[in-house]
Amino acid sequence: MSPRRSTVSSPLDKARRVVVKVGSALLVDQESGRLNRSWLETLIEDLVRLRKRGQQVILVSSGAIALGRRQLRLPRGPLRLEESQAAAAVGQIRLAHAYKELLEHHDITVAQILLTLEDSEQRRRYLNARATLESLLSLGALPVINENDTVATAEIRYGDNDRLAARVAQMTSADCLVLLSDVEGLFTADPNRDANAQFIERVLQITPEIEAMAGRSQSEVGSGGMATKILAAKIAVAAGCHMCIAAGHHRHPLRRIEEGARCTWFVPSATPVAARKQWIAGTLRPAGAVQIDAGALRALREGRSLLPAGVIGARGRFERGDTVSVLAPDGTEVARGIIAYSDTDAARIMGRRTSEIESILGFRGRDEMIHRDDMVVLRPDVLAAAAPETAEAVR
Ligand code: GLU
Repeated sequence: MSPRRSTVSSPLDKARRVVVKVGSALLVDQESGRLNRSWLETLIEDLVRLRKRGQQVILVSSGAIALGRRQLRLPRGPLRLEESQAAAAVGQIRLAHAYKELLEHHDITVAQILLTLEDSEQRRRYLNARATLESLLSLGALPVINENDTVATAEIRYGDNDRLAARVAQMTSADCLVLLSDVEGLFTADPNRDANAQFIERVLQITPEIEAMAGRSQSEVGSGGMATKILAAKIAVAAGCHMCIAAGHHRHPLRRIEEGARCTWFVPSATPVAARKQWIAGTLRPAGAVQIDAGALRALREGRSLLPAGVIGARGRFERGDTVSVLAPDGTEVARGIIAYSDTDAARIMGRRTSEIESILGFRGRDEMIHRDDMVVLRPDVLAAAAPETAEAVR
């Protein structure tokens, strides 16, 4: 942690893919229960600017329950689960409508995704959500995400969008997550009660000391509070993503961060790709293995992906998204990676060209058996010793 303001440009300027989370307290006026529309317009302008300079943006927006409860004339104070679900159903449609109007004004297509906890915890659903988000981003849409509060039950819900946003950042290998909240960031103690409370601008490691500060720090009006923000930070930095907690109630809240406004940055020790690779390398028990031919071994040496054509065998039972070992022709484990096909599908397409996948399986899966970003080389020595590349082996 360092008390000084960083002189280098903010991670927000440099990020390729940014997730921005807005809390209910910012979006919805506490007194009237209405959307803070003029403020939201300035946030949207900030998002548009990020996109114009080539950054991909995902918005995680709260506010459904806060908007819906007013419409349904529900009393102030804590709601029962069924009441929150009903409020979310009513509020979400209003929220989506507002985003559609505001973004279409800038010629941006908005896409709504409502996620549950299980969508981020169960592998198959996680992969589906990830694939959908990737498609939307590549098609130029701006995904707006919230928890699917109408179906989430007490036991299986996030309940706070801080951790949901961190999961989304992890899922999409985003390199920057901004939590816009009604607090400026992390203090050593509650600044309202303790005159000696100091602001923390940079956290390089989330130590027990930092966690204890979160308990003492001022917390926001929404469901989050500082404790869930620290949990979110743990998820984000483990995924190689910078995370920032910043005051969002000013107009143009993202521009303010770029201009150096005070906020707390959590700094990861690796990039998203490196963090993902560490995680893959650390898999204790790969679910299965694929054996590759000499041509694929050379392709791996060049840092390329593993295509079905280079696979000569599949062992074990695995599903799409499992970590498997990649074995050299002599059986040595040379790499590990997340496979894009199940064992049965892998067996059917191995040795075949990528263009044949659809006609063999009946669906168009990924071109690669294991994408290079999902693969980590364990034995560079074996790869280095692979015979030099020949033209026909390069795919
Ligand atoms: N998903 C909730 C909503 O849209 C908000 C959760 C939170 O406050 O973080 O109302």
